[in-house]
Amino acid sequence: MNEGDRPVSEREVPVGWAPAEHGHASPPATLDAQHDLAQLEAIMQAIPDGVMVFDGRGVLLRMNPAAAEIWRRVEIPIPVGPPRDEDLAKLRLLDEDGKPLPLESWPAPRALRGETIHGLHLTFAVEGARPYRMLVSAAPIRDADGIITAAVLTFSDETEIRELAEARDDLVRMVSHDLRAPLSAIYGQAHLIRRAAGDAEKVVARAAAIERSCERMSGMIQDLVEVTLLEAGQLPLAPARVDVATLLPDIIDGMRGGLDVDRVRLEVQSPCPADLDPARFERIVVNLVSNALKYSSSDVQVLLTTEGGDVVLGVADRGIGISTEDQARVFERYYRARGERQPEGLGLGLYITRLLVEAQGGRIEVESQLGSGSTFRVRFPGVRGP
Ligand code: ADP
Repeated sequence: MNEGDRPVSEREVPVGWAPAEHGHASPPATLDAQHDLAQLEAIMQAIPDGVMVFDGRGVLLRMNPAAAEIWRRVEIPIPVGPPRDEDLAKLRLLDEDGKPLPLESWPAPRALRGETIHGLHLTFAVEGARPYRMLVSAAPIRDADGIITAAVLTFSDETEIRELAEARDDLVRMVSHDLRAPLSAIYGQAHLIRRAAGDAEKVVARAAAIERSCERMSGMIQDLVEVTLLEAGQLPLAPARVDVATLLPDIIDGMRGGLDVDRVRLEVQSPCPADLDPARFERIVVNLVSNALKYSSSDVQVLLTTEGGDVVLGVADRGIGISTEDQARVFERYYRARGERQPEGLGLGLYITRLLVEAQGGRIEVESQLGSGSTFRVRFPGVRGP
């Protein structure tokens, strides 16, 4: 950094201040001023919120390290000085409804017009980068005559805390709505059993409906628990050297019962050695194959091959397919594709699958066309060397 780039106070104010000699009760006025500046400097350095100071024309006079760090993260390393057109063109500030704010409504220009702004929730959006949610405040700085000469802007990154709050809201919505649906069905069927207790056929049919609802609920609760453990890093992996080619047929066979496994056409290239946690691999296969069976009515092809040393598992169906828009999001938490089909789960199955695949060094992708079917492909690093 050359001398001209440094903020004024850094050049002129020594940080720290030695007490005057020979019993001065208080430091002389100039030292007082120096001390105030040094204090201000220390505060600017220490606070975790971003602080920026603009002059009356909107030129950035200085910012603290936290502000520089936030801009680096947002992927616009804004320098001290006049605003650069290319930075302004890249950056969009969105309000709480996601609408872009015109430049004159950004907090610093508003403060320069005399407004004091407290706790505005804004999103800093840069194309191609993750959006950041910020809590922004701003105020004018006036001289002794009350004329606005500068503005101060503070902002803190609240992305994580807002995402956590949204995840909590999603969870409450899931538990109160989706978990209640099978419970209502159980309640209704039990009520009907009581009324038709003498009719054995009806009792059996209703008991079967109760069992299905219980299985659905139990699957949802298992997904919720698993996601919580996975996200908290509390679902440890126990990798072992396995031959996926021998593991896979047993997993598919074990799915008999609730699902029409006879529709599965299994093709396996042998051997397919890999270092995987067999229980977690089973969960991946069960999720993908049960989805393929659920969303199609014809054969489901499960293909295991090796490709360039990787182990590749493909699960292909000729069912309802997934739109391009939904394909980009099916691996997200709680995401359920739109469609006529009533959703059966919480939209966690593919999210859990992705977390389990990635935790084992693998990758998952989907190729699909609406109305023609979907192919999910999982790729794990194979065993290289002995
Ligand atoms: P859930 O846990 O609710 O079953 P998933 O995470 O497994 O949800 O799947 C998310 C969404 O992706 C589903 O709601 C469904 O719309 C869609 N989907 C998943 N697999 C398939 C498939 N093989 N064919 C069509 N749609 C699918």
